[in-house]
Amino acid sequence: MRIAVLSDIHANLVALEAVIDSLGSVDRVWQLGDVVGYGPEPDGVVERLKALKAQGVRGNHDTTAVSGEGLDWFNPEARAAIEWTRSTISEATRTWLAALPTQWQDEERGMDLVHGSPRDPLWEYITSGNVARANMDALPPGTPIGLHGHTHVPVAWRADESGRVTLIRPANGDRLELDERPILLNPGSVGQPRDGDPNASYLVLDTDGAVATWHRVAYSIPATQDSMRRAALPFRLIERLSYGV
Ligand code: ZN
Repeated sequence: MRIAVLSDIHANLVALEAVIDSLGSVDRVWQLGDVVGYGPEPDGVVERLKALKAQGVRGNHDTTAVSGEGLDWFNPEARAAIEWTRSTISEATRTWLAALPTQWQDEERGMDLVHGSPRDPLWEYITSGNVARANMDALPPGTPIGLHGHTHVPVAWRADESGRVTLIRPANGDRLELDERPILLNPGSVGQPRDGDPNASYLVLDTDGAVATWHRVAYSIPATQDSMRRAALPFRLIERLSYGV
């Protein structure tokens, strides 16, 4: 089975469409939260995910957009975008986001899905080996493969036989074989990459071959930026898409 794993789409419908066009045939689409926030087309992205029957989890931006909870946590630009999102989204979008779980397991394939981290699904960033190790230990029993987003940087954290954790920074097209050892996989961000490459990032799991493959795809950044300007979203959020930071 081929499963596309998308994260941090952030209401960037142009980027999401480019990713979908590049996927080829997949059996499932999973998403790891932050469907909305920052970007200009929250309703369009949710409609597209519904049409794809995407399964997945809620992120911190999604949570605040539907409930207001945690608004003080965000910097001024992110907060402005969330407030714009709150005032713009349809009731159907709000209902769909609110119904997403914060953690979800595919027990058959041994996979755990969260936005931030297994021990703190909404808010924690996995950015160091120590935090990765603690979160491998926090993976629910029977799910050694942890899928998460939130940092907007495509990486994998893998534990070797001695328990030492290593960081892997996959480039476009890089493949990683999966085995029974615990591993944390981050697909990077579809809608607002932050690793210096502005192209949309995602990964595909081949569960029969037990392989994860990362992909980058170009999209029309100016088209998304034009929509953001029309929505009067903060300048810095518009600019950063050009640089992938
Ligand atoms: Zn995000």
